[in-house]
This record gives sequence, structure tokens and C-alpha cells, in this order.
Amino acid sequence: MKQEVICVICPRGCRLTVDPENDYKVTGNFCAKGVPYGKAELINPTRVVTSTVKIDGEKITRCPVKTDQAIPKKEIKNIMQEINQVNLNAPVKAGDIVIQNILNTDANLVVTRDID
Ligand code: SF4
Repeated sequence: MKQEVICVICPRGCRLTVDPENDYKVTGNFCAKGVPYGKAELINPTRVVTSTVKIDGEKITRCPVKTDQAIPKKEIKNIMQEINQVNLNAPVKAGDIVIQNILNTDANLVVTRDID
């Protein structure tokens, strides 16, 4: 059965139609980038996870973090549980790795802001 997917690669937000019974044929895309995006959304949707973790900074108690690459959407809940266990010590620098290869996804959880 065909499914609709909104392409979020650019602000145009094309409404894609993906047909799993026809080799995941994608229609409705304004540009070629929509084809692999539409297929991936049905076969193995992925997302970059952004969140915050606890930090013992003087003025700031939360530190923004993100995965350095997209991870399978089905792992987001488990990854959020891992993120909620983290407690950093200041100072930290943007790009510092908080958790390497988080839940064997090949993605690292990294700091996105310098905190003294
Ligand atoms: S299909 Fe192309 S033009 Fe349309 S939203 Fe995706 S990237 Fe943008």
C-alpha cells in the first residue's frame, strides 16, 4: 500500500508518495534527493537525536548534546534512556564525546556547546 512521507531535507517539504509494492518507487519529489529519503523513511527511518544532559556547571545545569549521525528511529527511546543517565563535569567543549558508539549504532553522543 502506498504511503505518504513529507521530505524534510529542505524547506520545500515535498509530499512524497512511496510504493512498497513497486520497488519503493517515489513520486511527488521536486528533486532527486527525495528518492533515497522516501525509500529510507519506509525501509529504515533514521534521525539525529538532540537533547540535553545534566552537568555540574556553576550557572548551567543542562548541557546540549546530539548524536553525530542519524540513528535508527526505533532506537530513539533506548538512546534517550542512556542520555538520561549521563552526568557531566564542567568544563566541556563542543565536539567532546559523551558516549562513544551509543548502543552500537556507530553514532557518538557529542556536546554541542562549550560550558566552563
Ligand atoms: S524532494 Fe528535494 S525539493 Fe522536495 S523537500 Fe526533498 S530535498 Fe527539498
